[in-house]
Amino acid sequence: MANEFALTLQPYAPLALHQTRASGQYVGTLDYIPGTALRGALAAAYLAQHGRPDDTFRSLFMSDMVLYGDLWPAVEDKSTTLIPATAQICKRFGFGHSDSFRDALLDALVSQPSDAKCLVADDEKRLCHEPLDRVSGYLCGLSPVELLSPRVRLRVNTAIERGSGTVAREMLFTQHTLTGQRKTKDKDKPELILFRGVVRLADPALKDHLEALLKAPLFLGSGRSRGLGEVGVKAWAEAPASEPLAERWRKFNEAAHRAGGDSSTCYFSLTLLSHLALRDEWLRPVLDAITPEHFGLPDSVTWVYHSNSTRPVLFLNAVTVAGWNAALGLPKPDTVALARGSVLLAQCPADQEQVVLARLSEIEAEGVGERRNEGFGRVAVCYPIHYECWR
Ligand SMILES: [Zn+2]
Repeated sequence: MANEFALTLQPYAPLALHQTRASGQYVGTLDYIPGTALRGALAAAYLAQHGRPDDTFRSLFMSDMVLYGDLWPAVEDKSTTLIPATAQICKRFGFGHSDSFRDALLDALVSQPSDAKCLVADDEKRLCHEPLDRVSGYLCGLSPVELLSPRVRLRVNTAIERGSGTVAREMLFTQHTLTGQRKTKDKDKPELILFRGVVRLADPALKDHLEALLKAPLFLGSGRSRGLGEVGVKAWAEAPASEPLAERWRKFNEAAHRAGGDSSTCYFSLTLLSHLALRDEWLRPVLDAITPEHFGLPDSVTWVYHSNSTRPVLFLNAVTVAGWNAALGLPKPDTVALARGSVLLAQCPADQEQVVLARLSEIEAEGVGERRNEGFGRVAVCYPIHYECWR
């Protein structure tokens, strides 16, 4: 799409992207840059250039005209895959036995679920036979599987008084930061890591305003008073086209039917690439009770159920996202959402394929649910890892 741009940032300083509100003396970091943090950094850059919010500011940051996606760790020339909740790997050796990596989503269609074990052989051709376990993170290659994990460092600093911005007496503050490097086997050969994501513009006229901001130094996350968080723009270009949905749909169904799916039924997966915040009519978060209707899918779509069971094939994790109002220096209410990486398996009769595909392509383009302008609600249909790594 013409109005989708891939933004690649390069860290110039360590990044501290807090997982939770920093209420104690210790806090961890996310391993990606949430759209919320990107939007905040650009809004701060705008105010530094223009002084006060105006109509352009409101269009850029306070409307749904611009959708700021999460930026994932990335290396040059390779695309990043988020490891979904359906992925498994050798429990004992992890990515040391990377050939054991598999995606288990389509196991749900197999009448006799396999008791998958790690079948990686050692130098003496003895098989590992350890059970598999769940795994999360990122890949920068599917065949062969290549793990991409950012290096994290623990930093101990003196705490800062929020009111005065000065050092708090006899208080330490410990936080994890992303170093801007990739974890590699050889510690002496560090490899730089980039952060890449998509920004969508509903109005092409906003592009010039955004590009003016991307020339300014940007600061992300917390610890800016300690010199953390500076990033620069490495690349900003029209987003590369991903594999067409119809093609992914075809490959997914080929694998699903091979796995034991019914031949008169079409199958598809919905994989959450970012957190999904949905609320019901009483404003309660929608978690396990999610239905195809929440995605605006036609009535002919239902979840797939585990065989001989009333349980739908849903791999869901919930997450609480803490908010912080930078302007007021006060906490915002938490958002409870379905976590990125969650996977849902759906089906429809074969004659409904075109109607369903039409809605699915809208879902991929526009996202679902609340807070889409800060990266929430991005969904991939028939994410390739589910059929390329199912074996
Ligand atoms: Zn193993």
